[in-house]
Amino acid sequence: MALVFDHKCYLRMGGTMFVSDILTQKGGLVFTVTPGTTVAQIAQQLSTRRIGSVLVMGGHDEGAGIVSERDLVRAMSLHGAAALDLEARHVMTREVVTCDPDDSIDHVMQAMTRGRFRHLPVVRHGELLGVVSIGDVVKARLEETTHEAEALKAYIVAS
Ligand code: AMP
Repeated sequence: MALVFDHKCYLRMGGTMFVSDILTQKGGLVFTVTPGTTVAQIAQQLSTRRIGSVLVMGGHDEGAGIVSERDLVRAMSLHGAAALDLEARHVMTREVVTCDPDDSIDHVMQAMTRGRFRHLPVVRHGELLGVVSIGDVVKARLEETTHEAEALKAYIVAS
């Protein structure tokens, strides 16, 4: 039997997942620090909250950014124990790539792969709506794959 995959039919069955679906599940809680927060304080926050990054916001002229555990490791390797006293503004990435709630899971996977990072703030019309991590994306992709298999099974049975 030849199977022809009807993409439109699959989409009607709700196969594709979007960033907004992730936010609906996990909520829009965003952990932020100020540019003056020390590396030691950030490490404590990442550890107690079990997260991999924080957004840096609230500075007057210093702009916003993101600090991930990888930035802390880099600072430690460059400065040793003195890294603990550095501030977020010294170690953050300033050019933050963001995504839109309407972006597909595939789109954010590509952005993360291209940019070699595991966190994407979700922004619409300048408003910060949440953060998606690679863990959230992998979980959503697994759900998407499961839905896809179920939709295909239903389609085969119905035809
Ligand atoms: P990660 O893989 O998220 O731990 O981050 C790896 C590196 O990319 C670190 O230097 C982060 O500061 C940076 N980074 C993380 N997320 C982003 C993002 N959305 N846009 C730009 N840089 C980022």
